Amino acid sequence: MTFSKSDTADEASEPKILVSACLAGIPCRYDGKSTPVPEIVRLVEEGLAVPFCPECAGGLETPRTPAEISGGRVLTRDGRDVTEAFEAGAVLAAAAAKEHGIVTAVLKSKSPSCGSGEIYDGSFTGRLVPGEGVTARALREAGINVITEKDFVNEYE
Ligand code: SF4
Repeated sequence: MTFSKSDTADEASEPKILVSACLAGIPCRYDGKSTPVPEIVRLVEEGLAVPFCPECAGGLETPRTPAEISGGRVLTRDGRDVTEAFEAGAVLAAAAAKEHGIVTAVLKSKSPSCGSGEIYDGSFTGRLVPGEGVTARALREAGINVITEKDFVNEYE
């Protein structure tokens, strides 16, 4: 499914896009940094998109030990199972999406929460495998059009 500018707001200018908070410049990544995309920062500033970080919402601290999906679980680099926190964040993301009438989610690529299409393979070596993050899956299963920030920049006109 593609993205169109009409996904951003309805007649009442309610936000209809959920975005990964790190893409909006919020320093919520595991390393305490953000990965801002100017077009997404602008949408949030204009009130046309809602920033959300499922890992923070699920109760994880920032900064935190990085985690990847392995064997159907989410494990930190030092072997702690954080699946529950990731799933809690996904439930809250789906609830926020429902509350705001979200139709499209622009989520950070490759992340074990937000990635879609491909994610890190669980080896913490930067290798990618086909798959999706926990929140990306929950939103897709809720009927939301999930795209990456790269899709967004390519398609936004
Ligand atoms: S969970 Fe998603 S929003 Fe939060 S830092 Fe990771 S990629 Fe960004």
